[in-house]
Amino acid sequence: MTDFKIILFLCSWGPHAAYQTLQDDAAQIPAEVTMVRIPCSGRISKALLFKPFEIGADGVALLGCESGACRYGTGTENAQKNVGDMRDILERLGLGEERLRLANFMPEESKDLFRFLTDFVSEIKVIGKSPITPEPKEKSLVKRQELINQIVTDHDVYACQDCGKCSSACPLTFSPRAMANAIIAGDIDSPSVQKDVWACLTCGLCYDRCPSAVKFHEFIRDIRHLLKISGLNGHDSHGGFFQSLMRTMTSKDLKVKHWEWLPKDIKLDPDNKTLFFAGCAPYYDLFFKNHLGVQTSNIIVDSLRLLNFFDIYPSVLKDERFFKAGKVERGCHS
Ligand code: SF4
Ligand code: SF4
Repeated sequence: MTDFKIILFLCSWGPHAAYQTLQDDAAQIPAEVTMVRIPCSGRISKALLFKPFEIGADGVALLGCESGACRYGTGTENAQKNVGDMRDILERLGLGEERLRLANFMPEESKDLFRFLTDFVSEIKVIGKSPITPEPKEKSLVKRQELINQIVTDHDVYACQDCGKCSSACPLTFSPRAMANAIIAGDIDSPSVQKDVWACLTCGLCYDRCPSAVKFHEFIRDIRHLLKISGLNGHDSHGGFFQSLMRTMTSKDLKVKHWEWLPKDIKLDPDNKTLFFAGCAPYYDLFFKNHLGVQTSNIIVDSLRLLNFFDIYPSVLKDERFFKAGKVERGCHS
């Protein structure tokens, strides 16, 4: 038995029919493969393609119908774009693009499908186990109200004078005091509280105006953590891809290729005390290039060129990681 894990997203039409033929014929489908039946390969977003890697998969394959045979018209083309973008991201992340594959099979191509599966599993075994360490699941806490009381005390929420200055400062026109009151009163599960807790920008503008120095943004972070360990994760934008990315970034065995794409004319000096930090910018272009055409990498390159123009050759962290602050904002305290 092996501990390799391979996820197979399988379109319900051509590929699934071929897979069913293999099952009917009692073919020896590799035990490492876990099949997930999906309505169309084009519906598997980049975030969904990445999710299995975050939680410990060593390889992922997306199988759809041949181009032109998609029942929904553009499914195969969408799948090609999503897999292409995600392979670029996996490469930059240091996981390697070859861990993600896209292939097309029609119902009569069960033998080709079988060959693909056995080859893919063998290739992943040669590449080796994924360096991603999945985050341990946190135990849910039963004494939730006790924890809420503790958070309220820690952030001195009872010092609130009910003056309302926080509401006028808030860019979202929230009423922090009303939110805190509802949570203290045991209303944490109400839809309005849940929505506001996740929508808050944690910008701290309310704290700046507060005469009692109630750190409401920090209160919100701890409440998010409480919700998270209670299994209430809120709604993540872009399918949660960037949250998945920040969690995988904490895997110490990951060898990121954060800087390999820099143009050769950029001069860096590993001994320079001026450190240049790119953060998540190198991933935005890859993720959004088929939608928004953003070019955040240009900001990095132009900034470095400007520094070089003034004879500053900054150092960079070869193993740069990011998103720790983002994790805390999302309620991840691990
Ligand atoms: S931290 Fe939240 S509640 Fe406070 S001002 Fe910012 S968005 Fe509004
Ligand atoms: S500004 Fe401070 S004291 Fe005033 S209502 Fe908001 S939290 Fe309470």
